[in-house]
Amino acid sequence: MSAWETVKLAIVRRKLLANRIPKDSVYPLESWMAIKASTTAKSERELRNIIGKKTHDSITRSEFDEYQLFRFREQLRYVRENSPFYREKFKDGIKPENIRSLNDIDSVPFTYPSDLADEPLTFMAVSRTKTAREFTTTGTTGKRKVIGYTTNDLISKVDIISSALRSVGMKDDNVLHIMFPAVSAWDPSLMLAGACKVAGYGSSTCSSPDIKEQMDIMKEKGATHIIGLPSFIYRVTTLMSSEADLKTLGIRKIISTSEPLSESMRSKLQDAWGCNVLDVWGMTEFGLACAIECDEQNGLHTDEANLFYEIIDPDTGKRVPDGKFGELVITSLTAEATPLIRYRTRDIAAMIAPPCGCGSDFNRKLMKPCGRMDLQFKIGMGYKIYPVLFDEALFKNGNVVDYQMTITKEGFKDVLTFEVESKEQSDDIRDSIIESITSITEIGDGMREDLVDVPRIVFREIGSMEYSAKAKKIIDARES
Ligand SMILES: [Zn+2]
Repeated sequence: MSAWETVKLAIVRRKLLANRIPKDSVYPLESWMAIKASTTAKSERELRNIIGKKTHDSITRSEFDEYQLFRFREQLRYVRENSPFYREKFKDGIKPENIRSLNDIDSVPFTYPSDLADEPLTFMAVSRTKTAREFTTTGTTGKRKVIGYTTNDLISKVDIISSALRSVGMKDDNVLHIMFPAVSAWDPSLMLAGACKVAGYGSSTCSSPDIKEQMDIMKEKGATHIIGLPSFIYRVTTLMSSEADLKTLGIRKIISTSEPLSESMRSKLQDAWGCNVLDVWGMTEFGLACAIECDEQNGLHTDEANLFYEIIDPDTGKRVPDGKFGELVITSLTAEATPLIRYRTRDIAAMIAPPCGCGSDFNRKLMKPCGRMDLQFKIGMGYKIYPVLFDEALFKNGNVVDYQMTITKEGFKDVLTFEVESKEQSDDIRDSIIESITSITEIGDGMREDLVDVPRIVFREIGSMEYSAKAKKIIDARES
């Protein structure tokens, strides 16, 4: 490393609040949020006048709410001044100073994914020369969204990732093994390796589906934790576990990110590696790392320091209480390059009120998002189906490595054909897969009503189906 890089690294490290988390913190991620609120109160008079000078260990939920409302007002002021999209959208009405309670937020209009896809650059609140990175996403609706990050945005991302890694038990001498397939359109590996470097953790990266290569790198680098795409880790695990006892590698935690993790996949992975598998949820629009599970494995702790979470009824737009499912709406509280206000994520989720069994006592958790609204398909009498349902049913069978399902129509019936990549293929395996699929309520009911046919299974050789990171698990081939 050059002297200049060393200096830059030192500067970034000093900015990380994650490095100020006390060693004896019960739940480091929550301590980090409290530190963020207390340091903001120190430097911002408006917030200080409301909650006073606070040490991080004395911040209450209602004081943290005030921190969020303060940030919300600041973000509104910021977008009105700097983002051409919001300058136009909020030109009459919206007065940031009037946002004093949750109810006041109801008056702020929503932002839709289509707004961002139509004119991504009008959202930018800094000139493009000031963006340090840009991510593009195709999403599921087709058009490309462009999300910019300034250096501060990136540092704030590294900060949350670093706190999250602390929360899963990573210590200074630990090594994170990063497992994303090389076909990924974006490069989470680089971002994560960078975060590890700044946070002072070791990292190793391997994108090869080659089992031996993965094992060798993990052993050579002394990997203690793994992070990656669940379908990819699952694929490698299923193929690896027949070669070696994965428990002997001494992996302490596996972090599953960027794709839904089904419970059957989780338990298979936990059995194979002998450690907990924790789920992460995020979206490109908000910097990917937005929420992470603790060992309770019952909901994901959210980054409330940088993001404001709401659940609304998608039809009425009204906020629903904690515990109720609806559409997840997020507002960035600190973003500089692409701030988003009340962004309708199209994800179905619910919030869980604190406390949590891990010791966290004010952070609101996100109940596992259970499918994207635009990845849902209707079958039979209008039952909604989405990929996670089938992940559960198919991966329960230890032979299944991957699958893809196509919906066609024969007469009045919907026909579900599953192409299944399986280590072994037999009628018994076929029957057990069909049984698991028909035990899904939506499928069973559809069959009883005679509107859904018996699922069809077509076995494929391992490696014959092309692996793709954001694989479209369900293809709707019915004529509309
Ligand atoms: Zn917890």
